[in-house]
Formats: sequence, C-alpha cells, structure tokens
Amino acid sequence: MNVVENLRKIKETLPENVRLTAVSKFHSESVLMEAYGAGQHIFGENHAQEMVPKYEHLPKDIEWHFIGHLQANKIKLIAPFVHTIQSVDSLRLLEEINRCAGKHNRKINVLLQIHIAQEAHKFGFLYEDIEKLLNERAFDALEHIRITGLMGMATFTGDERQIRREFSGLHTFFTKIKKIYLAGNHFFNELSMGMSNDYLIAVEEGSTMVRIGGKIFGRRI
Ligand SMILES: *Cc1c(COP(=O)(O)O)cnc(C)c1O
Repeated sequence: MNVVENLRKIKETLPENVRLTAVSKFHSESVLMEAYGAGQHIFGENHAQEMVPKYEHLPKDIEWHFIGHLQANKIKLIAPFVHTIQSVDSLRLLEEINRCAGKHNRKINVLLQIHIAQEAHKFGFLYEDIEKLLNERAFDALEHIRITGLMGMATFTGDERQIRREFSGLHTFFTKIKKIYLAGNHFFNELSMGMSNDYLIAVEEGSTMVRIGGKIFGRRI
C-alpha cells in the first residue's frame, strides 16, 4: 500500500475547492507521517482516546477533525486542540462542546451531522430537527462554537442513484438553510460528504470536504 501514491491519485480527481480529510483511524503514527510528508495536513479520527496521543506526538500544524459518534464525557479530552468536530448530532452535545471549548478559551468548529441514509444505525439530526433549532435560535448563545457546515453519510449500497439522491438532498438543504437562517454566518460553508466508495458522486453533488480512509491507507491491520 503506497500512501503517497494513493493520495496523489485521489487529489487528481478532486476539484480545487474540495478539501480532503484523511481518515486515519486505527492507523499508526508512522503511516500518518507518510501522508503528512506528502502534504496532507487534515486528519480524521473517530475515537478521542486514539486522537489524543496522535495529536501529542505529531506535528502541531495538523488540523484534527473528529468524525465519529462522540460521547459527551470524551469532549474534554479533545477540546484543547480539536479543529473541527464533524459529527455533532444533538443539541446537548453542542452545548457540552461549547462549555468545554470555553474552558480553554477556544472556538471549536462543528458540522451538524444529518441522517440521510436508510440505515437506522447511522447517527444524525433529521432535517426537521435542524430547522426547528434554527427557528428557535438555539445555537445563538453558543459563543465557543462556530457552525461551519453540515456532514452526511450516504447509505452503503451499490445503487448509485440512491447515493446521489441522498447527497443531492443534503446539498439542497444546505443551500436552503444557509439562505434562510444563516445568511449572516460567513463561516457556514462546509458540506462534508463522500467516503472511499462514494466520494466521486459526492463531489458531483456539491461536496466541499471528502473523508477518505481505506482508499488512502488500505484496509486496517
Ligand atoms: C471511517 C469513516 C470514513 C472513511 O471511510 P472509508 O470508507 O474508509 O473511506 C468517513 N467518514 C466517517 C464518519 C467514518 O467513520
């Protein structure tokens, strides 16, 4: 598995405005450093206990993105350094991130994860939950977070039309709430969608951030 070569091939297929989160969960620090050496500076992890030592040992200009289901009691571990939490799926979690970020005098970027897939085990807000919270201005008081966009995972299926429909629906929703509720929020620009097996479809449907693991690092050992 040639990480540098894999990264080069993927970057060739990404338009300029689409950024790449290299999903490095379960992979060793030395493998991350290969990617770092090739210019990759955004890494995604889905366990706080795994992200912390990687943050401590690796170069400080890495942007650490949390992409997994986050338990409220783990936020304090990553609050001192995490750049973006891409997988926020409840108001309670947002409030807790806000509190922990405040303790460190920081602002943490968050993406609201939307449930767009058919699988019930995937996490996320429903579209109507987000509209309700926006109408209630529930996010306004959270001074230590910056809502920078939305994240979604499509259904794991070979049916390309279904994947496309889910991504395109998320893009439409993103555009709608940006216009109606978030016109004054200049940070709300990120639409994180697309993984190893569906990122090309996601890019066609308006993704600004793809999250790719297997296609860069291979199957985890
Ligand atoms: C693991 C993971 C990815 C990367 O998946 P691959 O199929 O390995 O590219 C992307 N997003 C989330 C939320 C993940 O948990």
